[in-house]
Amino acid sequence: MDLAYSPEQLAFRQEVRQWIQDAMPAPIRAKAEGGGHFEHEEQMEWHRILFRKGWVAPHWPKEVGGTGWDIGRRHIFGEELVRANAPQLSPFGLTMVGPLLIQFGTPEQKQRFLPRILSGEEVWCQGYSEPNAGSDLASLQLRAEKDGTDYVLNGQKTWTTYAQYADWIFLLARTDASGKKQEGITFILADVKHTPGITVKPFLTTGGTYAFSETWFQNARVPQTNRVGPENGGWTMAKALLAHERTGIGGIAESKRWLQLCKRIARETPVGEGSLFDDRSFRERIARLEMRLRSLELLQLRTLAAAQVGRAPGPESSILKLVGTEIQQESTELCMDAMGHDALGWLDSPPEVLPAIEQGVASSFNYLRAATIYGGSNEIQRNIIAKQILRLPTL
Ligand SMILES: Cc1cc2nc3c(=O)[nH]c(=O)nc-3n(C[C@H](O)[C@H](O)[C@H](O)COP(=O)(O)OP(=O)(O)OC[C@H]3O[C@@H](n4cnc5c(N)ncnc54)[C@H](O)[C@@H]3O)c2cc1C
Repeated sequence: MDLAYSPEQLAFRQEVRQWIQDAMPAPIRAKAEGGGHFEHEEQMEWHRILFRKGWVAPHWPKEVGGTGWDIGRRHIFGEELVRANAPQLSPFGLTMVGPLLIQFGTPEQKQRFLPRILSGEEVWCQGYSEPNAGSDLASLQLRAEKDGTDYVLNGQKTWTTYAQYADWIFLLARTDASGKKQEGITFILADVKHTPGITVKPFLTTGGTYAFSETWFQNARVPQTNRVGPENGGWTMAKALLAHERTGIGGIAESKRWLQLCKRIARETPVGEGSLFDDRSFRERIARLEMRLRSLELLQLRTLAAAQVGRAPGPESSILKLVGTEIQQESTELCMDAMGHDALGWLDSPPEVLPAIEQGVASSFNYLRAATIYGGSNEIQRNIIAKQILRLPTL
């Protein structure tokens, strides 16, 4: 296995880097250089720019709008986007429901939904979690009952990220309560904006943004043709989709960017005769994090090398999620420590009070406390590692 980049890959990296620099509109570039927080409309503007270039869904097959790049190129492309601090695209259409529809959707569903996910014309959100169904997802209670050609939906979802911007939601609903709880679940697509009986209620988070919503369903009618996969076969869909979600969640490129920022802040923070960067204990903290991050990156490259020769990602994606999210939290904490009292600054702090580069740090620090929870909590990942990698007995 060769984990070094080939000359072709290095040339590709250069091409991508140059394109991003040229393609990014000035207001977005100014925010990106400042490490700022992007609003939904800015994310969608960047989405449309990538779409026009044909680079919005590198991981989709070429026939449905992908790039045809191999895994190495896709990885490099992702790294370069993060390196440039480009706005992060909404993952729910491109990374979750899109690949699921490609795998399991009917020809009509593919034709109806995929082009609009690619163009950004329709935005998606994920309706899995409920107040009593998070880690124990199969306990979900939202009901879907057949009536004529429709399903009638009743119940509640929670933690629906960016539901207020979404046109569509993919959700798991209970269609049978009689057997094993995993066996009575169905995967359904619903039009959030135009279905009477669906109500989205955003709530504020400690990150200072309205990132999440409660989503309510009261006699909301959805055509049965919006079901993906067989009725009561939703658990298979749910698991296939979560595998797509988890592989990208380790945030290795993001942590690299945080550590770069941390070093920059430390170099610019005077301490005694020198700077914070000369402080031995601070350098040790950076070095430890960099070593862990590098080990994790090697694991990721090995996973990619295996995927390149056709081996599907196994339980190692749980290690990437577990360790990757811990490093994301620790590297933002280190940035906060390096900033000292400037860490009190917030998203809307004016530049004369706080350099733009530092405006988003406290908000990201707060938001990333959730990284060890979303996408399957880290305790659950530990259970998976114990069972499937270490083969420990289950209690
Ligand atoms: C920022 C954020 C964004 C999210 N976005 C979405 C979204 O867009 N769509 C969506 O559907 N959901 C979303 N979620 C929900 C997320 O998937 C759940 O929060 C997560 O699965 C944990 O479920 P829970 O919150 O119900 O906690 P619980 O399952 O109640 O867990 C509480 C605690 O108990 C631990 N625990 C539970 N069971 C076990 C066990 N068997 N062994 C060991 N420990 C255990 C957990 O690890 C956790 O520490 C989001 C969550 C957050 C925080």
